[in-house]
Amino acid sequence: MEKLLDIRNLRTYFYTEDGVVPAVDGVSFYIKPGETLGVVGESGCGKSVTSISTLRLVPNPPGKIMEGSEIIFEGTDLLKLSEAEMRKIRGNKISMIFQEPMTSLNPVFRIGDQIAEVLLLHQGLNKAEAREKAIEMLKLVGIPRPEKVVDDYPHSLSGGMRQRVMIAMALACNPRLLIADEPTTALDVTVQAQILDLMNDLKKKVNAAVMLITHNLGVVAESCDRVVVMYAGKVVEEGDVYSIFEDPKHPYTVGLLKSMPSAVGGQDKLDSIPGVVPNPLNLPKGCRFAPRCNKAMDICREKQPGLTVLGEERTVRCFLYNREDGVK
Ligand code: SF4
Ligand code: MG
Repeated sequence: MEKLLDIRNLRTYFYTEDGVVPAVDGVSFYIKPGETLGVVGESGCGKSVTSISTLRLVPNPPGKIMEGSEIIFEGTDLLKLSEAEMRKIRGNKISMIFQEPMTSLNPVFRIGDQIAEVLLLHQGLNKAEAREKAIEMLKLVGIPRPEKVVDDYPHSLSGGMRQRVMIAMALACNPRLLIADEPTTALDVTVQAQILDLMNDLKKKVNAAVMLITHNLGVVAESCDRVVVMYAGKVVEEGDVYSIFEDPKHPYTVGLLKSMPSAVGGQDKLDSIPGVVPNPLNLPKGCRFAPRCNKAMDICREKQPGLTVLGEERTVRCFLYNREDGVK
């Protein structure tokens, strides 16, 4: 199987005054060319740190990607590249869009100049060509009157339109991988749907793979081929989108699905997971989900569960499925 991105045993720790925070603690997953992988979990589970680690944008200090981590992209370990080599990959082969476009677009530069910047840097276009291409990209992402908007400043656009601009910038260099961290969370529900449709449509056109980071399982159902569920810095379940929704195995995944707003019932929350994500400075000794788990057994409070392979591309980290321990 061809892997575009293969993250192996990624550990990203933060050295704070209060102690060491293992924000990402031994995470492994891969993305195949052209597919959309959803990375889901509540906030504080390590999703965003995983994404910024992939681009080597972890602020150091206090953050550090630990020895033994590997981020293999197109066969090369990104952690072994120089910063100069890494700059050729960011915004070019791997690009990223964030939750709040106002913080990612520079308010003092015209929109066209910001799109042109990536083209000047990575594609060797001259200024006039870059401007033409910027207008073309704005058209592609459905911005009305692109010839005018190209000279506007970010504040004159709505949140949805700014996110379209971010997508235009992210796709301008035909990346192989687009990392989208909560790309629609800050937007109205109707605009969210439009932006997701646009992303799904464009990623096919440019044949990019997507790492879609979200806490919203509705977004996952709309867009993803496969899903990785994260909890407290670890991957707890992995599978194709149908198995995850039809037959979730990990009690955390089951809880996430139950707390999804019902599409038909009109009920806002069917159920939810009690408690909160554990303090990373004071993690439970055994399974990190044990304090919130309605299936917890004695062993769960003593030992950390390993990954159990359930089938092809289907794994879970939970003692309920760990045959070695003779449970189920
Ligand atoms: Fe629950 Fe135990 Fe499974 Fe953890 S290992 S999710 S506590 S059953
Ligand atoms: Mg986040």
